[in-house]
Amino acid sequence: MRMLRERKLVTEFGRKMVAGGLTTGSGGNISLLNQARTLAAITPSGVDYLEMTPGQVVLVDLEGKQADGPGRPSSELGFHLSLYRERPEAMAVVHTHSPYATTLACLGWELPPAHYLVGFAGPKVPLAPYHTYGTPELAAAVVKTMRGYNAALLANHGLVAVGPSLTRAFAVAEEVEFAARVYYQAKAVGDPKILSRQQMAKVLAKFETYGQQ
Ligand code: 13P
Ligand code: ZN
Repeated sequence: MRMLRERKLVTEFGRKMVAGGLTTGSGGNISLLNQARTLAAITPSGVDYLEMTPGQVVLVDLEGKQADGPGRPSSELGFHLSLYRERPEAMAVVHTHSPYATTLACLGWELPPAHYLVGFAGPKVPLAPYHTYGTPELAAAVVKTMRGYNAALLANHGLVAVGPSLTRAFAVAEEVEFAARVYYQAKAVGDPKILSRQQMAKVLAKFETYGQQ
């Protein structure tokens, strides 16, 4: 099977997305590029993550031409491919309907840095304006809003995260959901203190050398 490694990873992270409470059913979608950045492995549209097999994962080129897979690719193929075309460092895209990030997105709010882990996405998590799911208008809004950020909230919809690996894109989605939850909870009982530009600039610089080098 072509790109078996990438297809397996896509199904594995789909299950992680459900297990981590980041989505339900077939909500959200995941894609991963091959090393040459010529083909993307993307989740098939409307297939439950707990039942998805690597053979169902669809392969498409960066113009959207289907190269393998029995069914239709995710309806959000447009923003996955637009992000890859626009961002040479991007190797994976994770789109979720995680509850707290989606709550803020339904309020029409962006996510300010009350918690420093917003830094996984940038100095804040911006909000892309509402467009119907699966449309070129949504794809254009996502790409535009995410300039300078690794994630964006999608108004009345969910969250998109990008990364140089699927592990990283998934971590960005997880940390944004965590920070959205903390912000929501803090807002529910008080007035969260928002980190300043300078404080976030220090966090972003320190993230460059975080963890095992
Ligand atoms: P797909 O099943 O087509 O990927 O759609 C799910 C989704 O989240 C649409 O925004
Ligand atoms: Zn969606």
